[in-house]
Amino acid sequence: MKRVAHFSLGWSLAASLEEQEKDKARIKALLREIGLERKFNPNRNWCPIEVEVGSRAFDVLIQACGEGDVGHLGLIERRYTSRELESAPLLHWRFTNQAIEDDYYTLHFKEGQAKGISPYTRDCEVCGAPLEQVRDMWVRVQKMGKRDLSATYGWEVILSPRLAQMLRESGLTGFTLRPVWSYRKPYQGNPPLFQLVATSTLPPMAVPPTEFEEDWPRPRQCAVCSRTSQYIKHTHWWGRIQYREETPIYYPRQVLEVAQDFNRTAEYFGELRGSQPYLIISQRAYRWLLEHKIKGWTAEPIYLVE
Ligand SMILES: [Zn+2]
Repeated sequence: MKRVAHFSLGWSLAASLEEQEKDKARIKALLREIGLERKFNPNRNWCPIEVEVGSRAFDVLIQACGEGDVGHLGLIERRYTSRELESAPLLHWRFTNQAIEDDYYTLHFKEGQAKGISPYTRDCEVCGAPLEQVRDMWVRVQKMGKRDLSATYGWEVILSPRLAQMLRESGLTGFTLRPVWSYRKPYQGNPPLFQLVATSTLPPMAVPPTEFEEDWPRPRQCAVCSRTSQYIKHTHWWGRIQYREETPIYYPRQVLEVAQDFNRTAEYFGELRGSQPYLIISQRAYRWLLEHKIKGWTAEPIYLVE
């Protein structure tokens, strides 16, 4: 695994011309120092730079991130090698597009506005958490294009009929498929898309070492529906510089005795309204998705502890 820092070097267009020139000169000097002078563009007031944490370039750039200086560290990203990914028994399955926006009703209507249609989830009346799916989703199908896999804004997993059929024949476990309809003509003909619903729920994560955000109002729980939702820890400090880095998820090793190929976490994430579990896939499912060249997702290893 390597940690890649995403810096941005820039100057404020609201500053005086003199100050802007000073900042440009400083950025140019910093880029020269780390051998990336070619990245300097005097006509663009921000310059994204990726460097590995621990490298000399990182040391140089982090020094330029103090208050009023030209650097900003936004994110440290963890990049895993194929070998690390191929040796993880379980992986966190994440989606890289949200082409299918959301259920059409949820997106465009408030409750009571569209006659005879109700939201596709039954939500808690107090916190708004989706508690149960009560009808098939109706979406703007053409947004899927030629994709096989898309998430919605609410992180529901949408599949092309091709991928749905392949999964049905795959022998992979822990999921069911639900039709997804065009909002223009729901329940007519063959479903134009499908929703993958994970049916296997994992036991709780190992906490610690799994860490959750503390600054964010901690495990937020609704007194009425008792849904609890949180965030995996991602706020960190490098001295006085705040940046974002997702921390890993850990499970007790015994999780392997119950995990299927597709699983949902017992924990919910995000704001209560719209809170969703994460999806965790087996190594077998990971390889299947790779072998069948399915696009639109990425995965990160889950760590096991004794
Ligand atoms: Zn609630």
